[in-house]
Amino acid sequence: MYVRIDQSKCQGSGLCEEELPGLFGIGEDFLAFVRNGEAVPGRPVEEARALVPKDQEDQVEYCARACPAACIHLDD
Ligand code: SF4
Repeated sequence: MYVRIDQSKCQGSGLCEEELPGLFGIGEDFLAFVRNGEAVPGRPVEEARALVPKDQEDQVEYCARACPAACIHLDD
């Protein structure tokens, strides 16, 4: 499972970083990003994706459901 964030919709609530600070961060622009992400062809570098460790998949799925902007996306 990969995770990426659509920064154009992020509201900067910080929920994702609070839940998984090792995977998500909040930038100086108050927008969330995925740490250690790899660029996705055709998408801005800020929307890089990262492979989710198996033991964090449940927490990432929670973040995706709870994100107030619905901008955390999960891909196979
Ligand atoms: S939970 Fe959603 S809206 Fe809040 S900072 Fe993370 S990606 Fe942005």
